[in-house]
Amino acid sequence: MTTFLTRLPNGFDLPRRIVRLGELAYNLWWTWNPDATRLFARLDFDHWERIAHNPILMLHTVGRSTLNAAALNPDYTRMYDRVMADFDRYLSDQHTWIATHYPELLGRPVAYFSMEYGLHETLPIYSGGLGVLAGDHLKEASDLGLPLVAVGFLYSEGYFTQRISEDGWQEAINNPIKADEHPFLLVAGQDGKPITIAVEFPDRVIRLRIWEVRVGRVPLYLLDANLPENSEPDRALTARLYWSDLNFRIAQEVLLGVGGVRALCALGYSPCVWHMNEGHAAFLVLERARELTAKGYSFQEAIEQTRAANVFTTHTPVPAGNDEFPLWLIDKYLAALWPQLGLTREQFVDLARNTQPWGETFSMGILALRHSEGRNAVSELHGRVARRMWHFLWPDRPEEDVPITYVTNGIHTANWIARRMRLLFDKYFGQDWLDRVDDPELWRLVDTIPDDEFWSVRLHLKRKLVFYLRERARQQWLKGGVHPVQVIASGVLLNPYALTIGFARRFATYKRAGLLMHDVDRLLRLINRPNMPVQIIFAGKAHPSDEPGKQLIQYIYRTVKKAETGGRLVFLEDYDLNLAHYLVQGVDVWLNTPRRPLEASGTSGMKACLNGVLNCSVLDGWWREAYNGQNGWAIGQDLPLDAPVDDAQDAESLYSLLENEIIPLYYERDDDNIPHKWIARAKIAIKTLVPQFSTRRMLKEYLDRLYLPALHSRLEKVPTNHRNRKKRTPA
Ligand SMILES: *Cc1c(COP(=O)(O)O)cnc(C)c1O
Repeated sequence: MTTFLTRLPNGFDLPRRIVRLGELAYNLWWTWNPDATRLFARLDFDHWERIAHNPILMLHTVGRSTLNAAALNPDYTRMYDRVMADFDRYLSDQHTWIATHYPELLGRPVAYFSMEYGLHETLPIYSGGLGVLAGDHLKEASDLGLPLVAVGFLYSEGYFTQRISEDGWQEAINNPIKADEHPFLLVAGQDGKPITIAVEFPDRVIRLRIWEVRVGRVPLYLLDANLPENSEPDRALTARLYWSDLNFRIAQEVLLGVGGVRALCALGYSPCVWHMNEGHAAFLVLERARELTAKGYSFQEAIEQTRAANVFTTHTPVPAGNDEFPLWLIDKYLAALWPQLGLTREQFVDLARNTQPWGETFSMGILALRHSEGRNAVSELHGRVARRMWHFLWPDRPEEDVPITYVTNGIHTANWIARRMRLLFDKYFGQDWLDRVDDPELWRLVDTIPDDEFWSVRLHLKRKLVFYLRERARQQWLKGGVHPVQVIASGVLLNPYALTIGFARRFATYKRAGLLMHDVDRLLRLINRPNMPVQIIFAGKAHPSDEPGKQLIQYIYRTVKKAETGGRLVFLEDYDLNLAHYLVQGVDVWLNTPRRPLEASGTSGMKACLNGVLNCSVLDGWWREAYNGQNGWAIGQDLPLDAPVDDAQDAESLYSLLENEIIPLYYERDDDNIPHKWIARAKIAIKTLVPQFSTRRMLKEYLDRLYLPALHSRLEKVPTNHRNRKKRTPA
């Protein structure tokens, strides 16, 4: 099938003995295998931090004498040999879980489309949870041996880096991505020339080149319009994530949906399932239909034949969160498409027509829902919200029969577990425990871990966080241009033994980052209690055009800077995957305060739980189905969906939980100075939550509820296709 080439650049100057480090740097497998990561880091730990964990830069800049020394160091080469053997075994494994259980899936891949992918901090092609979920989906597909090909964008300016001014205002810095410093492989044809594909707009053609990123066994193809053949404005279409300008946005979504299908076709793939991660990719259903209308099928026939293989995941619990375009934009960008589909303009608009108070729109959510056989929300509660929200599309059915199922999100365990916690689990669960992460039986073994060993890992992870933040603050201070109070706000006064609460996520206002500050005096009393200090770490970016989000950051930053906090409130700049790892591993409590039911799932709390951190959260998204009264804490109650949200009541619930339960429990110590009751709770949380909220469980559910039904209905369709083919000559 391979009709294309991707060649590793031969630019590394590596000693022969360790020459395959170059190959390892070009497969993100190293990111979830700690020994592989260490192979790069231990060449020069300080340098590794300075270049922000980029193995390609590492190999280019570490210096020949360091590489020679590693090649001559028997400890290093032993580790190198072991990692490379693991890597080879992983890539060539013929007995993956999928090969064993669903060999019928091996022939043709699942195609996965997403606007963003959170795979590693060095690849700034993600903005938040949606991207991290997509990244974890790919890693899990690779581990299970599920054939999957993914499509996204190479954003030439990446997502922005966040700086906070002395007054708390978010500044966005864009950093052009240099392709040769990243594991991007330009996809070329047999002739060695880069493969490009064309997407026609009414007044011009935009060309895209394709880069491959290897995620274990899974290829991710990134589309890129930054080519000399395209005009300057068109080259910028793939420069950034989520343009606010609707012209840019619709063009970008056409490139993803239409361009993505064409790219996979140009590379010789014929996927059996087409999975849209959120509505941004929904134009793919039209391109798939167009491929058939071009062969003479009617639009109806084309949709009937393609719909069964389309799967749509919605992540948005509010109607306004779905992308919708005014009809004049549809005319401007898609007028060339409707005749190709054999439709009039009105018929075309009817595919996704929505009526809003401000006029008619073309809704990407409706387009995807109507033209996919598989549809899912991302938690049980979100499923109910989605069925209610989209009930109008199925008016003949009762709300509970609206055909939108749910698959609750999960996290990729190996990606999110701290190295020390992993070693502890290795010791008590046996070496192969990662192969059984979704097996609840395995997790009973958590009770065999002695409290003192568990606690010493927890303390280690918190110290690691605190010392890392101090070092970041030092670098900030050394660089200059900041006021001393900003250095304090970055965490230099943190105490590695104090109860530490983390709150880090996108600063969308529904997440209510300010809830803890509802009563600032009460908060100050709470963090400064004698003998029971509490410190709270905030982090998060607001979308650059989200003014309320940026104002919320400013409000929090101004409070953090007050002398009365004693440096116990902290706001960290530039929340990203790197900081996320430190935080979810290092704090004691993970706080989440969304306005119900706007958190479709949430995943950061799952990452925290895996590392022995306790969740304190509103009963929304995943936490509503996770909380059992003993495995963390719930803010407020599980009220009916339409109950009004009362910020004051939720704040009261949060303060009283902290004052009466969380803080006393943390500081309740025996003579050994270990909080046994706290640890018991953390162990219950691990046992009850880790197997359930893993991407292992999640992907198996995607298989059962969405991928396999799509595949099987397609197999049944074979005779139908046959009939259609005879009918094909237009009447
Ligand atoms: C996990 C993660 C998120 C998503 O967190 P939520 O709990 O869903 O808000 C966002 N950003 C980063 C960097 C993450 O790692």
